[in-house]
Formats: sequence, C-alpha cells, structure tokens
Amino acid sequence: MNAANKALVLFSGGQDSTACLAYALDTFDHVETLGFDYGQTHKVELECRAQLRSAIAKIDNWGAKLGDDHTLPLPALAEIGGTALIGDGEIKMQENNLPSTFVPGRNLLFLTYGAALAYRRGLGVLVGGMCETDYSGYPDCRRDTLDALEAAINLGMQSDITIDTPLMHIGKAETWALAQELGGEALVELTLEHSHTCYRGDRENRHAWGYGCGDCPACELRAAGYEKWKSQ
Ligand code: ZN
Repeated sequence: MNAANKALVLFSGGQDSTACLAYALDTFDHVETLGFDYGQTHKVELECRAQLRSAIAKIDNWGAKLGDDHTLPLPALAEIGGTALIGDGEIKMQENNLPSTFVPGRNLLFLTYGAALAYRRGLGVLVGGMCETDYSGYPDCRRDTLDALEAAINLGMQSDITIDTPLMHIGKAETWALAQELGGEALVELTLEHSHTCYRGDRENRHAWGYGCGDCPACELRAAGYEKWKSQ
C-alpha cells in the first residue's frame, strides 16, 4: 500500500481530532492515531480516546481501516509551559491576545514527533485539527506555519510527508456539520458522548453539546458552535 494512502492522526480525544479521525477514515486506506501525554491537568482527554476509537470503528467499514494507537510522553512541555492548561493558572486572555492556555510551539513539537513516528511506520500523511478560524489565534495553527514546517520536515528527514488539516478554514458549527456528513447521526452521537474539550476536565455536567463545565473558553466555543449548527 502506498504511503500516501496511509495516515497518522494527531488524536487528543477532543471534538476537532474526532472529526479529523473520521475524515482520515473516510479518505485513506489505513489510519493510525497518536496522542501525547505531556502532563495535562486533564488526563480525562487521553482516557476518552479509547472509547472514541472503539465507537468510531463501528461506523461503515472504518473498523477495517483503523490501525494502531500510539501514545508518546512529552513531560518536557509541562516543564516549559506552566500555563493554564498544564498548571494551576487561571484561564484568561493575555496582553499579547493569546489565551493563557497557549503552550509556545506545542503544535510544532506534536507534528515533528508525529512526522518521526509516521516515517518509522511508513505513513505518508499527518492529519491534524489545526484551525485558523479558532478564536484563540494560535500562531502554530496557521497554514503558512504548517507549510513551512512540512517543508522543514521533508528536508530534514528526506521524506515526502503531507500535513493535512481538514478543519483549517472552517468554524465549530461546520465541524459538527462535517461530522454529520462523514459519519451521520452515529458520529455526531459518539462525538457528543465521548469527545472531551473542557479545559477544566469536567465529565460530570452533560449539556446538549456534550460534557463540560460550561464556562471555560473551550466549553463556550463548543457550545456556541453546536447551537449555531443546530439553528441552521
Ligand atoms: Zn469547560
């Protein structure tokens, strides 16, 4: 099988990476998943991954395409970061217009580790949920950043790996619509039930849009996207 038909999905267990996994299973012949454990405050996101994988494998012929799951520990990020996502800090907007959850260069590291693993596994495509329309404006989610990284990776590894970002230019409402289009009600339902987005790791409070505290920036974004999609 050609490497260009085999993908590695950066799969955190959130709504976006669930849509990316569905996109990859719809598009490629063989799909593996990768999660990072970098001392998140909320290991719950990593724990949701297994439930999502087994549920998504029941849709169409996706189970036959779904390959190995990988988890890489990246504890160095917690040492460097000390921001709200991985420490005790409060989640707020900083003076540079980036939220305090921003871990500098996080996606660059994720994709570089992903590329090294993809190289080893003979997978030609990296799929990630980076998105320019996200409220947060993470500079390492922008497509021009990823084009530069893709070029650097392929020069540095003498490879031909593609970074595929299906959510780059769509908003949260369109991500729900994409889930519906790719996997129907079953995919929408499993995304609602098992995907995790809340920065506070809340799995107690169930809303129409899924589990979460309801007032952290990630919950607000997810809730607004769901409401917008439902009202269309
Ligand atoms: Zn929340």
